[in-house]
Amino acid sequence: MTQPIFLVGARGCGKTTIGKALAKALEYAFVDTDHWLLESSGMTVAEIVESEGWPGFRARETQALKSVTAPSTLIATGGGMVLAPENRLFMREKGAVIYLQAPPQELARRLEAFPEAGQRPTLTGKPVAQEISEVLAEREPLYRQAAHHVINAARPPEEIVEAVIAALRLAQAS
Ligand code: ADP
Ligand code: MG
Repeated sequence: MTQPIFLVGARGCGKTTIGKALAKALEYAFVDTDHWLLESSGMTVAEIVESEGWPGFRARETQALKSVTAPSTLIATGGGMVLAPENRLFMREKGAVIYLQAPPQELARRLEAFPEAGQRPTLTGKPVAQEISEVLAEREPLYRQAAHHVINAARPPEEIVEAVIAALRLAQAS
């Protein structure tokens, strides 16, 4: 198997954590689109949003997605990558898309423990838990639309990695 693998899901669902472990297990390269953007622009997500607004950030995000997509590469995407129909279509056509699904309470717990404020600007200025619920309600259908596989991400990382590998193997065999 060499097809690119895309991880989608809300902030805190584990795209970076699971992505790194999964890449290692599959002997894939690992890229994080937010991190790639930071390196290539020399700005943080917060700084890009401040100087170019969310539309500017979204345009750069699409560009990042296309630049990093390659065989044997695991791509952890930003939480809003699925907003653009173009991005959803691109990922579905180019590789296997995995939605790491976790309930809002779990996401809130993780983000409150590790806020990383500079890298994760609040989208609405509301309390974290409320914002997470609202944003997830809006994006859940898009994560599902984009994904070939929906994986329960509210369990230990090793189990998630195994579940993703099993889903990919099954898909390949069918
Ligand atoms: P994302 O890249 O999707 O925003 P991260 O991988 O950065 O998410 O994870 C967000 C936080 O949640 C990190 O502190 C990470 O250690 C923690 N985390 C990720 N996956 C799990 C998991 N399966 N169980 C418990 N904590 C997790
Ligand atoms: Mg991440």
